[in-house]
Amino acid sequence: MHIHAVPAFKDNYLWVVAEGPHAAVVDPGDSVPIERFLADHGLKLDAILATHHHGDHVGGLQALAAHWKCPVFGPAGEDIAGIGTRLGEGDRIRVPGIGIELDVLDVPGHTAGHIAYVDPAKEFVFCGDTLFACGCGRLFEGTPAQMSRSLAKLAALPGKTRVYCAHEYTLSNIRFAEAVEPGNRKLMERKARDSAKRDRGEATVPSTIGDELATNPFLRCRQAEVVASAERHAGRRLRSEVEVFAEIREWKNNF
Ligand SMILES: [Zn+2]
Repeated sequence: MHIHAVPAFKDNYLWVVAEGPHAAVVDPGDSVPIERFLADHGLKLDAILATHHHGDHVGGLQALAAHWKCPVFGPAGEDIAGIGTRLGEGDRIRVPGIGIELDVLDVPGHTAGHIAYVDPAKEFVFCGDTLFACGCGRLFEGTPAQMSRSLAKLAALPGKTRVYCAHEYTLSNIRFAEAVEPGNRKLMERKARDSAKRDRGEATVPSTIGDELATNPFLRCRQAEVVASAERHAGRRLRSEVEVFAEIREWKNNF
């Protein structure tokens, strides 16, 4: 099984999971690059999976479903046209064609019904716009407490788990992380490594949960330097991990 990044729009990655001649696509925001990729690689589309309702994740869903007549999976808690099987926490699906199983996690915060897909061996997770490489999604529909819990759920996956997020935001996220945690040596190493990848025209995604735990400020809201930076930015004492998270999320919105 291979997982391919198909770039779309300005900085999206649409993910194609391929096994032999079979393929599934995660978050097809646009059908055109997916159809081109399938044709170039001699693949047939057997399943479509969506993490949340934003257009850059589902914009190509109906055209692909109409062409390939394949099943479409998506979140139970969101209204997405074309979804055949609505999923929530605890559901396990077998992806048609490629045969892998995926477990569903509820990860609300970016949107109210956002879900993630993780394989039973926890080798990889498709987390949409919840966890990003060195960052996290904006809170469009959820509260800081919800997003904080969702991120904690992803952070509890094994360190080896590869994180397939939906955008190439890593270098700008790292610039923000440096402002929050300038003393983090692992973050400096990551900056050098990921900058070199971008210079070579490579994706910085997937990262791993281990990378994120070491460098992503949104997963490090109990670290003394993150707390101190958040309190300095807030101009007051912050009483909980959720308050620290809320402060740095707000800071990042205006960074
Ligand atoms: Zn989104």
